[in-house]
Amino acid sequence: MQEVFVENGEKAFRAKQLYEWLWKKSARSFEEMTNLSKNQRKLLEENFEIPAVTVAEEQISEDKTIKNAFKLADGKITEGVLIPTTKRMTACISSQVGCSLTCKFCATGKLKLMRNIRFDEIYDQVAIIKEQAEKYYDRPLSNIVYMGMGEPLLNYSQVLKSIDRITAENGLGMSPKRITVSTAGIAKLIKKLGDDQVKFNLALSLHAANDNKRSEIMPINDQNNLEALTEALQYFHEKTDTRVTFEYIIFKGFNDEVEDARELAEFCKNVPCKINIIEYNPIDEGGFQQADANKVDAFATFLESKNLIVNVRRSRGKDIDAACGQLANKNGAVAV
Ligand code: SF4
Repeated sequence: MQEVFVENGEKAFRAKQLYEWLWKKSARSFEEMTNLSKNQRKLLEENFEIPAVTVAEEQISEDKTIKNAFKLADGKITEGVLIPTTKRMTACISSQVGCSLTCKFCATGKLKLMRNIRFDEIYDQVAIIKEQAEKYYDRPLSNIVYMGMGEPLLNYSQVLKSIDRITAENGLGMSPKRITVSTAGIAKLIKKLGDDQVKFNLALSLHAANDNKRSEIMPINDQNNLEALTEALQYFHEKTDTRVTFEYIIFKGFNDEVEDARELAEFCKNVPCKINIIEYNPIDEGGFQQADANKVDAFATFLESKNLIVNVRRSRGKDIDAACGQLANKNGAVAV
C-alpha cells in the first residue's frame, strides 16, 4: 500500500494511517478514514474494496444477550453473540460457516460445513460485538471465546492469524489471556498449539470422561479418544504452562450422575485444569434434556470435594436461540 500511495504522488505514511483505520479503529469503509484527504479516499475507493462483515440481523434477549447473524462478503451467514454478565462482556464468535463435526447435541452440527471463515472476517465479528458492548451497555469487551459455529482448530491458520490481529498493539490490543479457543478435541492440533507456544487459553469440549459415552455424542472421539487427548493436553501444558478448561454440558439421564463426576475427577488428574459445567439448551430434534438442578448441584459438589475448580454456567440468550449449541441460522438469515 505504501507503493500504491507513492506511485500516486502521495506520502508513504498514508499506508500506516490506512492500516490503523482497518485494524485499530475497525473502519469498514474508506469514507470513515477522515485523516485521509478526499482524493486519497477516492484513490482507495476506485481501486480497492473492504470485504467487511455486516450485521444481517440483531436480536436482543430478555437477559440482554445479543445474537448477531453476520453476513460475510460472499453472502454466507454466520453467527456471533455478546454475552453480558456482571463481571464480563464476552464475545462468542464463529470460525467456520457450518461445521463438519456432527456432535449430537449441537444445532450447528446439523448444518454442513460450508467454508472456513477468514481471519479478517473473524476479526470483524469481534470488532462489531465490541461496538455493541460499548453502544448498548457502555462497557468494554472483556473476553472472547471461539465457541460459536465451527471447529476452530480445523481452521487453524486463520484462527491464529485473527488472534494475532486482535491482540496486536496496532490491532485491538486485547490480552491473549482474555481469549479462549474451544475445541471438540483434535489431538494433533492441540499438540501443534503447544509447538506454536500460543498465549491464549484452550478449552476442550469434554462432556463425558468415558470413551463410550463421549463417542456416542461426539463422533470425533473415535479418532481422538481420551487417551490421545490426555497425551496431547499434557504436551500442550508442558509447552505453554496454561491450565486447560474442560467444558462439560450436563444432560439429563446421560452424564449427570455422581459416577460420571467420579470419572471426570479421575480424568482431571491428568493435567492442570478447571471445569465449566454448562446447562444444556434443548435444540429441535436434539433428543437430550436439561439436567435437574439438584443433579447439577450434586455433580458440582462432588467435583469440589475433590479440590477441583468448578464453575456452573447458567445458560444465556435461550429465548433467541443464542445459547451454547443453539447457533444454527434459524431466523431466515439463510446462508447462500
Ligand atoms: S459442538 Fe462445535 S464441533 Fe461440535 S458440531 Fe457443534 S460447532 Fe461443530
